Amino acid sequence: MNYSEQFKVAPGSKVRLKDMDPSFKGGHKNNKATAEETEHYQKKLRGLQDLMYAEGKHSLLICLQAMDTGGKDGTINHVLGAMNPQGCRVAEFKQPSAEELAHDFLWRAHRAAPARREVVIFNRSHYEDVLVVRVHNLVTEAIWSRRYDQINAFEKGLVANDTHILKFYLHISKEEQLKRFKERLDDPAKQWKISEADYTERGFWGDYVAAYEEALSRCSTEHAPWFVIPANHKWFRNLAIGRIVVQQLESLQMKYPRPTVDIERIRRQYHAAQRA
Ligand code: AMP
Ligand code: MG
Repeated sequence: MNYSEQFKVAPGSKVRLKDMDPSFKGGHKNNKATAEETEHYQKKLRGLQDLMYAEGKHSLLICLQAMDTGGKDGTINHVLGAMNPQGCRVAEFKQPSAEELAHDFLWRAHRAAPARREVVIFNRSHYEDVLVVRVHNLVTEAIWSRRYDQINAFEKGLVANDTHILKFYLHISKEEQLKRFKERLDDPAKQWKISEADYTERGFWGDYVAAYEEALSRCSTEHAPWFVIPANHKWFRNLAIGRIVVQQLESLQMKYPRPTVDIERIRRQYHAAQRA
């Protein structure tokens, strides 16, 4: 199955999240049945990242958005865990600092965007400025409603400079979120992640769904597509994202650069001499 096509939000289409099954498993049974395949994509990912670094022409920007507990951290661990730390980076988007607020909303995203040959994952992103900001009326509607076009233009500019952009919405159900909150309460290694805000934000679930649907519908473009990833099963989420990122990077048809030195001459001059 071509997950790139299956989960991509077709540009111009209207997303309705309730028509998309967050528990979808693509005919796979469980974690065990897919572990090998997932590992296969991780290996490929590492090879492709090495190629991107060596070729030095492209960069990759992955934007991750989700409701709380949607699995952003787990996805980062999985995707970046496959890569060589040299050439990879994560950028987090928290509540903006005073300095960030004094600039236009895209300033911090542009600063954090990847340089040529780099892979950068946005843990949350510039989309927060049409999500949490819209849900909580942090700016007027007149302001946030202009941002969709501004985001598309911004991303188009990055793509024109050979940044490949992939945006993933990790789609979990409201029940799954509650289950994950409970797991956090019971696990001393996860309790630090709990905040009251998680529970209050849960009360705005419907508003977030509406905000997400508009962002996904208006900002999935040919140049910077959104993917809605069924994420109730963490192993399926990892498999799907691994597969999509590999497919997309393969489509760039990158090549290792030709050596800048005469390999044959070096072989003759240095290695042949050593044998003698
Ligand atoms: P977390 O990712 O759980 O550490 O939380 C970061 C918090 O910062 C989330 O509640 C985000 O919604 C919030 N946040 C991120 N970007 C913005 C923004 N532009 N304006 C207001 N809040 C934001
Ligand atoms: Mg949180």
